[in-house]
Amino acid sequence: MATPGHFLFLGNQDLNGILRGRSVPAGRMAEAMADGLPWVPANLTIGALNGLPPDNPFGPLGEIRFVPDPAACVTLGGHQGGPAFDLALCDARQMDGTPWACCPRTALKSAIADLAATGLTMKVALEHEFTVHGLNESNHVAFSLSAGRVIAPLGQRVLDTLERSGIALEQFQAEYGASQFEISSVPTDPLTAADRTVLTLETIRDTAHCMGLRASFLPKPSLDEVGNGVHIHFSLWDGARNVTCHSDWLTNRSAPFVAGLIDHAESLVPLTVLSANSYARLRPHSWVGAFTCVGLRNREAMIRLVPRGPAVDGSSPKASLEYRVSDATANVYLALAAIIRAGLAGIAAGSPAPPDVQHDPDTLPPEQRAAWRVRPLPASLDAALTRQALQDATTWFGPDLAQAYYSCRRSDAVQAAGYSFDALAAKLALVY
Ligand code: GLU
Ligand code: MG
Repeated sequence: MATPGHFLFLGNQDLNGILRGRSVPAGRMAEAMADGLPWVPANLTIGALNGLPPDNPFGPLGEIRFVPDPAACVTLGGHQGGPAFDLALCDARQMDGTPWACCPRTALKSAIADLAATGLTMKVALEHEFTVHGLNESNHVAFSLSAGRVIAPLGQRVLDTLERSGIALEQFQAEYGASQFEISSVPTDPLTAADRTVLTLETIRDTAHCMGLRASFLPKPSLDEVGNGVHIHFSLWDGARNVTCHSDWLTNRSAPFVAGLIDHAESLVPLTVLSANSYARLRPHSWVGAFTCVGLRNREAMIRLVPRGPAVDGSSPKASLEYRVSDATANVYLALAAIIRAGLAGIAAGSPAPPDVQHDPDTLPPEQRAAWRVRPLPASLDAALTRQALQDATTWFGPDLAQAYYSCRRSDAVQAAGYSFDALAAKLALVY
């Protein structure tokens, strides 16, 4: 990639779910693509409202290198006569080129490799909901043709930009909430899915900006409105065979993996949602999945089993599990890596199959909840910051990454305490 008249931006999604990096003009593109660019370790912890966590483990020391992956690129058009930007996603590596313990993209690669060692692979597709400000819709009729037509000009430009970089979307549509829309990606391997997520979200934000609009993926824009969720659809494969679902339920391959997610839910959630705002979305009766359970076609379960069309032999070649407790503030690499790590813990422990919860879990009597291991998820960032969550993150990602990640979350919690819900949402809506 060396396009005359373009800038090249090299970036890595940080521990606050924000893509940050540096750019070089066309003349330095070839060199930057080959060698990467230097970066400051502490920059990975810069908060959504700026400022470093006081206990961030890096301090002023060290130097790392962003090394681009030529397979993870998109070209964004120029703004008002400015240059187009070629955006390339990077691994954060040590200066000698070896992996760096705190790089989220590297953590996902390592989780994928450990999953492969059990004889399984995973395919992932994501649904993202978001709000578009500035459309001046007189009335947003949920899922209607009229709302779909309102977003189509933005949708088409986004689809064209992504398609030029070989990225296809499955859907771009109006959603339920006021000026709320949704995209869904095409199933692929977890690393490609994560890269495409970052590239797609940046493309949507950037294209909206070019059109005088503002796209925001903030999980809970207002307490009175539905949230913007990220639903992570994943399936487990043994070679060319989807082993996620048989006869409308989990298989003996997928059940221990899903049990691991349920067992470790309280440690998983602070890695699949990230901001203080995120927890206001995790409420019963909002189709988010605020309880630790899995259910066939159940949108109030943390994990919904989606068999799609079953084959005559009872297998479901297109089945997926939909992990619903994620949002776009999360670092998508860590979110996927955490799901794989929790699933692997379930496989290693030989965890028994969880029950199929075919109810709204909030309506279950306490004895039934206890029998089915149905627990409410943490209701606030403060409540989510437990010793167990830090311990599991340390086991899954090593102490350096876990410490750095949790220094960010503690800092978010302290910062959030100084704002009303609306004041914080207004600030974060300009970031996410
Ligand atoms: N908006 C809901 C959420 O926050 C999801 C609604 C749906 O099922 O699409 O996750
Ligand atoms: Mg939706």
